[in-house]
Amino acid sequence: MKAAVWHGTKDVRIEQVDVREVQPGEVKVKVEWAGICGSDLHAYHHGMGVQVGGPHPLTGEQAPLTLGHEFAGTIAELGEGVSQYQVGDRVAIEPLIYCGECKYCREGHYNLCEKFGFIGLNANGGFAEYVVVKKHMLHKLPDQVTLEEGALIEPTAVAFQAVRSSKIKVGDNVAVFGAGPIGLLTILCAKAAGAAQIIAVDISPERLEKAKEVGATAVINAAEADTVKEIMALTGDGVAISYEAAGAQPTFTNAVMALKKGGECMVIAAFAKPAQLDMTSLLVKEINVTASLAYRHVFPEVISLVEQGALDVKKVITKKIKLDQIVEDGLELLVQDKSQAKILVQIQS
Ligand SMILES: [Zn+2]
Ligand SMILES: [Zn+2]
Repeated sequence: MKAAVWHGTKDVRIEQVDVREVQPGEVKVKVEWAGICGSDLHAYHHGMGVQVGGPHPLTGEQAPLTLGHEFAGTIAELGEGVSQYQVGDRVAIEPLIYCGECKYCREGHYNLCEKFGFIGLNANGGFAEYVVVKKHMLHKLPDQVTLEEGALIEPTAVAFQAVRSSKIKVGDNVAVFGAGPIGLLTILCAKAAGAAQIIAVDISPERLEKAKEVGATAVINAAEADTVKEIMALTGDGVAISYEAAGAQPTFTNAVMALKKGGECMVIAAFAKPAQLDMTSLLVKEINVTASLAYRHVFPEVISLVEQGALDVKKVITKKIKLDQIVEDGLELLVQDKSQAKILVQIQS
């Protein structure tokens, strides 16, 4: 079958590979749509995040590996002991790899597993015609949810968990720093959670335009305006919650400074470098800084909200490409063209 395989930095090849055999408790999925994520860009451009230097302790796999962890498709083959699904079922995949045995797994916090990993980074992923996954990774899609939306459940789950575990209350004013795919999905989730003002901050006019489309009530271009001053002017005393979906020192500083007293900065982004924090401003305003890693136990809720139309995730799609185009029109384009948000790859030709 055809797959987009990571061999090294700037070296992703479309090649013919074998799909591994389905083991008991596993399912073979025929992938229809797969989204390109920021972590795929990090893997391609900087060689970050991919399993190298030895096999993953749970999957036994290592590079060269097929990328792709945001995907949906139909079930093509059932392994022994899989009775709750049928061939042809439409599914979204929750791609987290965890042991199920460590302290955190036993507490249900499987996103904090000691051996935490991702299909598509620590095992072969969804930029391939077929992928074999464990049955617990499957989430059936209702008829009203398309397979394209199915590929967006995973990144939406990241934003959803951050919003849900923040202290947001209906009627709160919030700010979202960074209007990339996760920032845009955070805007959608904050809107669904009943936020009043949703202020989006970015330095790209195209991204801010997209932020308005998905529901931001105001946008601030941080390259041109004094972000904190503008947020104070819009809200009076600052936002209740700021979501940090950019992952840089200036955005983090502003995300904290733009809060009202008792506010919360929820960190969703992965920071490339350590960031500094003025503890005095935290103390005098009784501010909390919290973080949310991936997701746990939220796929059913996200799928349900998409089904009901409360999360119109399609709006973040800016381009659809074929698997053969993934390097040039996907992994390369996403860093050059800031008007792009989520690029979906159609896998079956
Ligand atoms: Zn991702
Ligand atoms: Zn574990």
